[in-house]
Amino acid sequence: ALTKPGINEILKQKEKHSDYEDEHKKKYRSLQDVRKTLPIYKLRDELMKAIRDHQVLIIEGETGSGKTTQIPQYLFEDGYCVGEDDNLDDEEDSNDNNEDGEKKKKEDKKMMIACTQPRRVAAMSVAARVAEEMNVKLGREVGYTIRFEDCTSDRTIIKYMTDGMLLREFLSEPDLASYSVLIIDEAHERTLHTDVLFGLVKDIARFRPKLKLLISSATLDADKFSQFFDDAPIFRIPGRRYPVDIFYTKAPEPDYIDAAVVTVLQIHVTQPSGDILVFLTGQEEIETANEMLLERTRRLGSKIRELIILPIYSTLPSEMQIKIFEPAPFGARKVILATNIAETSLTIDGIHYVIDPGFCKQKSYNARSGMEQLTITPISKASADQRAGRAGRVAPGKCFRLYTTWAYQHELDDNTIPEIQRTNLGNVVLLLKSLGIHDLVHFDYMDAPPFETLKLAFEQLYALGALNHKAELTKLGRRMAEFPLDPMLSKTILASETYKCSAEILTIVAMLSVNNSIFFRPKDKILLADTARQGFFVPGGDHLTLLNVYNQWKDINYSTQWCYENFIQFRSMNRARQIRDQLEGLMERVEIEIESNPTESIGIRKAITSGFFYHTAKFSKNGLYKTVRHQQSVLIHPNSCLFEQIPRYVIYFELVLTTKEYMRQVIEIENQWLLEVAPHFYKTKKLDEDNSVKKLPKKLGKTKEELERNY
Ligand code: ADP
Ligand code: MG
Repeated sequence: ALTKPGINEILKQKEKHSDYEDEHKKKYRSLQDVRKTLPIYKLRDELMKAIRDHQVLIIEGETGSGKTTQIPQYLFEDGYCVGEDDNLDDEEDSNDNNEDGEKKKKEDKKMMIACTQPRRVAAMSVAARVAEEMNVKLGREVGYTIRFEDCTSDRTIIKYMTDGMLLREFLSEPDLASYSVLIIDEAHERTLHTDVLFGLVKDIARFRPKLKLLISSATLDADKFSQFFDDAPIFRIPGRRYPVDIFYTKAPEPDYIDAAVVTVLQIHVTQPSGDILVFLTGQEEIETANEMLLERTRRLGSKIRELIILPIYSTLPSEMQIKIFEPAPFGARKVILATNIAETSLTIDGIHYVIDPGFCKQKSYNARSGMEQLTITPISKASADQRAGRAGRVAPGKCFRLYTTWAYQHELDDNTIPEIQRTNLGNVVLLLKSLGIHDLVHFDYMDAPPFETLKLAFEQLYALGALNHKAELTKLGRRMAEFPLDPMLSKTILASETYKCSAEILTIVAMLSVNNSIFFRPKDKILLADTARQGFFVPGGDHLTLLNVYNQWKDINYSTQWCYENFIQFRSMNRARQIRDQLEGLMERVEIEIESNPTESIGIRKAITSGFFYHTAKFSKNGLYKTVRHQQSVLIHPNSCLFEQIPRYVIYFELVLTTKEYMRQVIEIENQWLLEVAPHFYKTKKLDEDNSVKKLPKKLGKTKEELERNY
């Protein structure tokens, strides 16, 4: 029988509860104390005055000075979230006519502060921190929005978001009227989305005089930003930086991961306490280094002090992201294996040692071939200096560069090239066209994209049917812009309407969006894992295999155990599910019903072809394929289910360059489909010949002059 809890127990529980409350209060108070120690705190009044006095302000300050976490809170404390209409002043006389109710409405109206971040992890992590500092639940007053994830509510007043999300916000609210302040943070990163935002926010600031615009960056380009924003004043937050000793290797390191691991252990054994930060280029390298470190520390056993290894990269789940901020227990040392994210976006306290192999993963784009690539590239001098700076925040530090002095001086560029000059612009062109901006050649760019790239984006959107021959947005283009996806994926989704398989296509698009991390391949079980993967293969190609995996998982009620048994990454599957839900939500806006036709492999492949006919390759000889558009030699990736089948025509999702040029995620198609889905792109008779691609309309422009004349 159930017994009622005795009075003692109730009292005990109450006591526990108030313990918790005390604990909570203590924590809150200590957080408030920490806030006061940040360099920005002493300048609070000065900064707020500068913001009052100027509409646009450039804020420059060392990483960790408190820009990202503090400025939005200061703005909130000073009433920037209280609703106020831009044209309140002009309405002075009409105010008397206002009904009481309406007046009240105006008072109730809240305004938001937006703070953009180039990286999703930064947006999430900073929002969590600020929610904690303000003692509110994350997602209520303080929230974040990143692609496929919205953690905000009606109550949200401070909104951290990726720069791409603010860009999309223009689609639903062209003047961003719900925001009183826009903070374009980490401006020095010069991501594509940040660069496009510059032009747009500069424009809306002109007709919204009360809007405040803050451009914040970690040192470097402040003058350039100021010039772009009509000589806006620069507010500098003097950083405290301790000296950092820089060490170079005598000779180039053939294997920088191994060198980094050795250096970590050397520091751990020979150097006084203080945490270590290692910069690597991505998840794979981080996992490799992690394993190597575990293995070697295990071998050393109790001969060394405890070493806590913590990875941080963009797809790491958030509960693990938080761990990097927790101080190491007494006697132990933390080593953080990070991507570029720790360069300026996230500040981790307590770092004394930095290990910098000198590389990062960077996008590059060949406008001739339309090929976009992520490659491991040497960093710039500016990056190297930022990285070294991370060692000197709390005390004098040391930075170990795994390259030579000579390489630093002669091989590194001064600055990183802005992303807008080395990426595919299809997505952004579509978005800007949807915002009614037609003249993209003369758009207000801080640094203009190469003409070739812009032209290629027009061509591609024309071929997809998003733009007409005058480069105007079509109805299809307008619908495509509703999706926060690459235009080829958006087109695929829209085409699924014709082939009555939207349910399947949504799944495929979601699965493609999680970056090749569906199948788990542990080094000690490669054979088993590969067998499991092959078990999912279905005729037709990899997209259908992905669909099969998802559907089986769904049928077994999204089971974790099932993933584990089948060498499938549960985390990635969950993310795919989340993305799929988001996409399904968007289908209403384009008025497409969710229809399922799981056995209709042809329809599904035709829908994919409608979006990806640009990515057609034709078998030529010796296992080699030639891309139809650029006659480039490529191979089917060995992991593909079509690897051994060699179909005549295939469509690939992406090209990856390793030792060879591989097509990843491939489906088999029939060449007539190309005529069916892209008659304006492929010539009727010549499909079997090499020059099967039609010439594009003259109006789309051959030369820069022509293009300028035509728009
Ligand atoms: P800035 O934007 O100028 O680089 P931030 O506002 O990001 O500076 O950081 C200010 C301080 O807040 C730093 O000491 C940093 O360690 C701390 N901080 C930021 N985010 C978190 C977090 N998620 N958890 C714990 N501390 C954090
Ligand atoms: Mg910051």
